[in-house]
Amino acid sequence: MSVRVRFAPSPTGPLHIGGARTALFNYLFAKQHGGTFILRIEDTDQVRYVAGAEEYIQDSLEWLGLVPEEGPRTGGKYGPYRQSERKEIYFKYALQLIEHGQAYYAFDTPEELEGMRAEHEAAGETATKYDAHIRMMMRNSISLGEERTQELLAKGTPYTIRLKVPHDQVIGFEDTIRGPVNFATAELDDRVLIKTDGLPTYHLANVVDDHLMEITHVIRGEEWLSSTAHHVLLYMAFGWTETMPKFAHLPLILKPTGQGKLSKRDGAQFGFPVFPLDWHDPSGEFFQGFREFGFLPEALINFLALLGWNPGTEQEIFDLNGLTAAFSLDHVSKSGARFDFDKALWFNQQYLLNADPERIATLLSPMLDHRGVHVEHQYLIQVCTVYRERIKTVSDLTKATEYLYGEIPEYDTDAIGKMWSAELATHFQTLAGLIETESDFTAEHLRVLITSYVKSNGLKMGNVLQMLRTAISGSPSGPDVYQMLELLGREKVVARVISFAARV
Ligand code: GLU
Repeated sequence: MSVRVRFAPSPTGPLHIGGARTALFNYLFAKQHGGTFILRIEDTDQVRYVAGAEEYIQDSLEWLGLVPEEGPRTGGKYGPYRQSERKEIYFKYALQLIEHGQAYYAFDTPEELEGMRAEHEAAGETATKYDAHIRMMMRNSISLGEERTQELLAKGTPYTIRLKVPHDQVIGFEDTIRGPVNFATAELDDRVLIKTDGLPTYHLANVVDDHLMEITHVIRGEEWLSSTAHHVLLYMAFGWTETMPKFAHLPLILKPTGQGKLSKRDGAQFGFPVFPLDWHDPSGEFFQGFREFGFLPEALINFLALLGWNPGTEQEIFDLNGLTAAFSLDHVSKSGARFDFDKALWFNQQYLLNADPERIATLLSPMLDHRGVHVEHQYLIQVCTVYRERIKTVSDLTKATEYLYGEIPEYDTDAIGKMWSAELATHFQTLAGLIETESDFTAEHLRVLITSYVKSNGLKMGNVLQMLRTAISGSPSGPDVYQMLELLGREKVVARVISFAARV
C-alpha cells in the first residue's frame, strides 16, 4: 500500500507558520516513503471563508517548494480537491449512516437547543451536551419515530443530521507521536454531521474525504486531537476501520516566551512575521510575510523542520532532500516547540552566506524599487557579493547599502567623537589626493596604497579604517573597507573623504 498524506487547510485566513510546518511534515513523510502529498481545501464553512486565502495557501506552499502532487491546482484522480465541490458526496454518506442506524435527523430549533441547555444548567448540570441521555428528550428521528420523521421531512422542516454516539464505551486509537489515546464515549456529544444549510461539518467531510482519497496517514496539529474521537467513531459507523488512517498529532508551536500558542498577534507584538508571504486581510489589516521580510524559503523550511522534530544528532542545516532522508515521526516530540525568531534569522544567515549573489540581487531589486531606488542589476550583484556574509535577511541590505545609491543616511557621531582627530583630518586630506590619482581603482590596489600610507606615517590601522568607513558610509562597521571603496567608486569616495576631512 503506498503512502498518501494530505494537508487539509481551511481557507479561513492565510497559512500561518503552524500550518506550513504541518504541510512540511506531511510532505517529508510522503517523499520519504515514495508516497503522494495531497492538498485538500476544506472550505465548507461558508461563514469563516476568507476571499484570497486559498490562493495564498497554494502560493505559500509553492514558494516553500512543497508542491502537492494532487490538489486544486494540479488536479488528480481523486478530485475535486475542494470540499465545496464535493457537497453531494457528503450528503449521500450521511444518509447511508441514517439507513444503518448510525446517525439520525434532528429537528430541534436553535431556541429548543438553548432551552435544553438552560434547563439543565438550572438543574445544576454544567456541561450539557446532546448525547445518548438527552437524545430521547429532544425532537429527532429516534425520539419521534419513523412516521413523524417522514411527515416533518415532507413538510420541509429544517434539520441537522447527527452522529449517534454509542452510550458508555471506551474507544482508543494509537497516535504515532503520542502513543495510545483512549476516550470514553460518555464524554462525547452526538456531533452534527450535516448542518441545516445541507453542508457537512468538518468532521464528516474530513473523514469521508480521507477515506475516498485513500489517505493512509493523518498528520496534523495537536488542536485536532480531541476531534479524533469523533473521527474514529465515524470510521466505525461507516465500517471503514480496516482502512482507517494512522494518526499523528504534531506538537503546538509556542510563543517566544514559551507560554501559550503562537498567534498572529505575537508577530505584531514581537516584530516578526508569522505568515510565509505578505497578507492583506480583507479587514484592512496587513501582516508582513517571511518572504518580504527577506527570508529564503529553504531557510524557513530548515527552521520549521526543527520546530518539534530533531534529527537525533547535532546537525542543524538541512535542505529539503536532507530532511527527506533524515525525517522520522519517531523524532517528533509531544511537547510544544518554542518559536525562536533569532534562530530563524540564524538559519537565514547561513543560507545567505552561500546563496548566489545574483539570486540575492534579484530578491533585493524589488525591495529597492519599492523605496524608489533603481539600481543596475550587474552592480547589485557586485554589492551582494560583498555584503552577503554580513546580513541576516535580504532586506537588511536596503539599509546597509543605502550609502552606495544616494547620500549618506546618517553619521555615527559617537564613533567619530571617539576616533576622529585634527591629525587624522590632515592625513585624510592627503589620502583623498592619493586615492584620486590611484591608477587602478580596485580593492586590491587600494589596500596596498592605504596600508603602506598608514604604516609609513605610524598611524593606527584600526582607527584609520573605521574612520574611512565612516567617511564614505556614515558607519564605522561594514564589510572590507577596500571593497566598499571599490563599490562606491573613485568620484564619490574622493568627494566624501574630502568633505569628511573638513570636520575638525
Ligand atoms: N481543515 C482542518 C484545518 O483547518 C484540517 C485538520 C485536519 O488535518 O484534519 O486544519
